[in-house]
Parts: sequence; structure tokens; C-alpha cells
Amino acid sequence: MTTDTHIAADRLAAVREGVDRAARLTQRQGDDIRLIAISKTHAAPAIRPLIAAGQHVFGENRVQEAQDKWPALREEQPGIELHLVGQLQSNKAADAVTLFDAIHSLDRPSLLTALAKAMDRADRRIPCFIQVNIGAEEQKGGCPIAETPALIAAARDADIPLLGLMCVPPADVEPAPFFALLAKMAREEGLPRLSMGMSSDYETAVMLGATDIRVGSALFGDRPPPARPVPGSGRGMARNSLA
Ligand SMILES: *Cc1c(COP(=O)(O)O)cnc(C)c1O
Repeated sequence: MTTDTHIAADRLAAVREGVDRAARLTQRQGDDIRLIAISKTHAAPAIRPLIAAGQHVFGENRVQEAQDKWPALREEQPGIELHLVGQLQSNKAADAVTLFDAIHSLDRPSLLTALAKAMDRADRRIPCFIQVNIGAEEQKGGCPIAETPALIAAARDADIPLLGLMCVPPADVEPAPFFALLAKMAREEGLPRLSMGMSSDYETAVMLGATDIRVGSALFGDRPPPARPVPGSGRGMARNSLA
């Protein structure tokens, strides 16, 4: 093993241990929780060691960046599963449908229409999570809580396979109440999966029912510091400012 692979294997083992610990506390199995390695901003040489360490599920937050990086990596390593976790513009829906195996950011009726059309054209159904704006933050993506049941019903009508709900809670406050609320919403809608929890809070998320955790920096190391938020850019949150 190369040094890079050792580092990647150590980080992966540490996250897996955290997942197992949190799962055990709530009488679940760590193996039942899907760890999505968020590789945004990291180029192929940083990603390969994690693949070599055994990680096969990855997530990106931009369609273009994923298109640039993943076709080649997938040729090197068959069996990669790629998730889109960032906001999706309707005009990129067709690209997203060909590139990704799951989409975590379905959050509005116009995108639902675009995705349904793209899936029909490609004859490929991509399972989706509905992203909920769980902290009711103005600048943030995600469907308003009150509008979520209608969006879920519309997705079901349009034959979009729904996995569950996803959220990114507000930065710098205790995330547990937001995770608990998302779990309650999913339960009420009969949706089985919960995409919640990032590097700083995945153990809390697992204890509150996360089935899919999205972990970047704990696996790859820190990303370059974010540029200062641009007012009106729609990126209101430091944690998400590279999204
Ligand atoms: C970047 C990102 C993550 C991972 O964040 P880390 O704090 O690096 O673990 C998870 N979810 C979304 C939507 C992201 O944009």
C-alpha cells in the first residue's frame, strides 16, 4: 500500500468506527448505514487512494465537476456508485440523469418536471431524495417544510423513485432537532431513507436515524478555505459555501 492509501484507509476506518459506535447506541447495525464519500473539490489523485482503501460510493455537488472527473475514474474502477448532493439546475437534469446513480437534491416542482422528462428520454429511473429546507433558511436550497408533502406526492405521480428525505441543517447550531424533524417527516410519509449527517455531525445523525451519511473532510482532509460569501449568491452558509 502507498502512504496515501494508508492515510485514506485510516480515515475510512475512523469514520466507520464512529458510525458503528453511533449505530450500536441505537441498536442498529453500522453496516446498514451507507457512507457517501463527498469528493467535491478533490481531483482524481486524491480520490484514488480512497477507492483503493475500499470505498465505492461517492458524492459530488456539481454536475460539471463530476462530468470532468468521474467517467475516467469509473473506467479504472467498475462498480462505483455516484450520488449528486448539491443543488441541481433544471437545465442540467439530463446530464445528471446520465451521470449519477442517485440524486439527493430534488427540491422543487420545476426540477421534478425536468427530471421526469430526462428520465423518460434516457429510459433510466434515478432514485431521488427530496431535500428539505429544514431550518427554513432563506438562502438555502431545499423544499419548504410545508410544501414537502405535495412535492412527495408529485414525485410519486411522476414515477420518480423516491428513497427518502435529505437535509443540511443550519450551520453553527445543534443539528439534532433538525435531524429529528426530518426523521419524523419521513416516517409520516412512509419514506425509508434519511440522507443526513456530514463530517462534523454524522454520529448524531446516525443516532437519529440517518441511513445515508455524506462525509467529505473527515475522509479527504480539509478543503481549501471557502471564499467569503458573496451577498445574494444563494450560498448563505459557510459549511456549504463550496456547493
Ligand atoms: C460538502 C458537502 C458535504 C460534506 O461536508 P463535510 O463537512 O466535508 O463532511 C455533505 N453534504 C453536502 C450537501 C455537501 O455539499
